[in-house]
Amino acid sequence: MAPLGVRQAWATAGAQTLLMLVGLMGSPAEGFVAPGANSLLGTVQAGRLQALSHFRARGLGHTGYQKRTPLLQRSNVRRVLGLSMKEPQKEQVSKELQEKINDKATAVTSSDEKKFDIGVSQFQQVPNSTWTGTTTLKQRQGDPEFGVWGQTWDAAAASKVRKDPLPWPLLILDRALDLVEDAIQGKEGVRTGRQGSGYYALNLNDDGSPKKHKIAVIGSGWASHSFIKSLDATKYDVTLVSPRNYFLFTPMLAGAATGTVELRSITESIREANPDVNYLEATVTEVMPKDKKISCQTVVCEGAECSINDFDLSYDTLVYAAGAGVNTFGIAGVKEHCYFLKQVGDASRLREAIGNTFERANLPDMTDDERTRTLTFVVVGAGPTGVELTAELKDFIEQDVPKFYPHLLPFIRIKVLEASDRVLMQFEQGLQNTAVKDLSRPGKSVAGLAEDYVQVMLKSSVKEVTSTDMTLNDGTVIPYGIAVWAAGIGPLPLTLDLIKGVEAQNDDPKARGRLICDKFLRVHGCPGIVALGDSSYIQDLPLPATAQVAAQQGAYLARLFNREYDLSEVIPTKRPDAAPETLAAVRFNDEKIAKPFQFLNLGILAYTGNSNALAQIEGPSSLKIEVAGLAGWLGWRSVYLAKQVSGRNIAMVAFDWAKTSLFGRDLSRF
Ligand SMILES: Cc1cc2nc3c(=O)[nH]c(=O)nc-3n(C[C@H](O)[C@H](O)[C@H](O)COP(=O)(O)OP(=O)(O)OC[C@H]3O[C@@H](n4cnc5c(N)ncnc54)[C@H](O)[C@@H]3O)c2cc1C
Repeated sequence: MAPLGVRQAWATAGAQTLLMLVGLMGSPAEGFVAPGANSLLGTVQAGRLQALSHFRARGLGHTGYQKRTPLLQRSNVRRVLGLSMKEPQKEQVSKELQEKINDKATAVTSSDEKKFDIGVSQFQQVPNSTWTGTTTLKQRQGDPEFGVWGQTWDAAAASKVRKDPLPWPLLILDRALDLVEDAIQGKEGVRTGRQGSGYYALNLNDDGSPKKHKIAVIGSGWASHSFIKSLDATKYDVTLVSPRNYFLFTPMLAGAATGTVELRSITESIREANPDVNYLEATVTEVMPKDKKISCQTVVCEGAECSINDFDLSYDTLVYAAGAGVNTFGIAGVKEHCYFLKQVGDASRLREAIGNTFERANLPDMTDDERTRTLTFVVVGAGPTGVELTAELKDFIEQDVPKFYPHLLPFIRIKVLEASDRVLMQFEQGLQNTAVKDLSRPGKSVAGLAEDYVQVMLKSSVKEVTSTDMTLNDGTVIPYGIAVWAAGIGPLPLTLDLIKGVEAQNDDPKARGRLICDKFLRVHGCPGIVALGDSSYIQDLPLPATAQVAAQQGAYLARLFNREYDLSEVIPTKRPDAAPETLAAVRFNDEKIAKPFQFLNLGILAYTGNSNALAQIEGPSSLKIEVAGLAGWLGWRSVYLAKQVSGRNIAMVAFDWAKTSLFGRDLSRF
């Protein structure tokens, strides 16, 4: 079996080749910004002892709020990264060093920095979102133990950060080179697990052996799965915490809710994704950035008794990928009466409810009105989730219901409610119109089914939901049997709590409950935390909340770790002893300096029912290729199959599709 990196590289390469074939490559996002930040670095050199202290001043992480914050204060000293020396000297020197830093930090302010000769970097934002910096680093004199050893960041390094987005063809080439480099490194360098020098030697275990850098990962969704799948976890001490011990391929959740595919076909165990990662089944209840700890909670059951266990986990780097929650916009009754489509449990409950509703409608004592209400499906939200669920529901009704419940067909209704005047906002207008047409007309003529049994109701916003009726803002009342809420996502309480405690996170209203990051995905104001996927927001680079973005961010971050960039530096630079890249000479960036994240838009797809789908392929400049109908469906199926995260999932999904088209969907309820 090929090493993980190689397997992942080839799987991704295969998927991307297919995407290229169907033209699903997109234009890059906007310009890059090198983050503005200050950092101080000191080294003790005394005899054999070497210590690297690294501390940051509160508010210095990002320009914008540094102006408001005194440059250094005692409370601003965050941490001493570690010391490469044996006990007991380690503790002793560490304490002394800490005191020295604290003393100096207390006294140093922006106006008297000269007194202590500590290096300070000042940044300014200039027009066109480019950051420039000047370093005022000075050598401290006359102190053998605490001398400023050097700033690994300098203006020269900042100027080497790739500032402009790579144009479309070069970005594709850059990604291809990344995959080749991953494959080479996977074989030769990355899995060596080199320890004992540089980065790893900064911390020692009690027996003097080097401690690995601790990475804690929150979540097992698109971003974190892609991160651990690509990460060489032998180099680091990686622990993933999530209440879900599997990855879920969310784009096929609608198919799973209607029985087109089975849930196990679209999930992968986290342990399978990367066996070198330690997985803990728990929910993170608090992030403590100052202490570099997370609090977790898990339910432990023995026999019939269950108890709640709390524990803390410390980290050097926290990868925050908790995703987003459902947004009910505070509308009364939504939480209590609507089904959602976000997790495996949601799809499974919905599938059960659909089966149940037909059995109920089949009971002899029902009036026609009651049957119509019971068999009215309301889907709220006409984004990709709402549209694809409606399409799958239609397929089920037109392909399977006639076999089992032909007499119930006249009572079936599907109502798609959309608050705006358009469906599928991300698509061009032509494709939006095609989607409405595809959804509104029956796929094939089925005797007994009303011609207009599917209604797409635009400009229809929900005011209130009860157990039997949905009331719209214009007063319309829709009696329903099953209501599914697919109207948008919102922030998680965990993310909001973290944001609340960090001043820098309250700077940008556009973040709307997501963690504000720089273009290396580092969270503003939280040294040591990176955020990915739906819970993150890169300032000045708004990206859609999609699996595509999350997965690309996960793979990008894994590469930064695999290639040993030091994210604690102002500009992440490669550690001096990191394995050199084989293809460095032909890359578009200086390999010593990390390249910022750039999103490669692969295009968008949506299934609209009866073997029709929409594909919007984005090319260079503003070129957009629009495909609909059967060709779109072939593209949709090919991409969804190729994007499965393992060979096992590809085989199971292909088998499910074949089984459904040959034998239909299974309506049994257990
Ligand atoms: C039905 C549906 C269809 C979709 N279709 C598409 C599509 O076709 N194309 C596309 O690009 N995108 C699609 N998306 C969007 C896509 O799924 C998301 O953008 C993507 O999942 C975001 O990835 P993420 O890693 O940020 O979050 P998620 O994938 O949501 O993962 C979050 C993880 O964090 C865990 N978690 C949450 N809270 C905690 C906590 N307190 N402690 C520990 N762990 C926690 C969760 O259990 C989960 O494992 C779809 C989404 C849905 C729901």
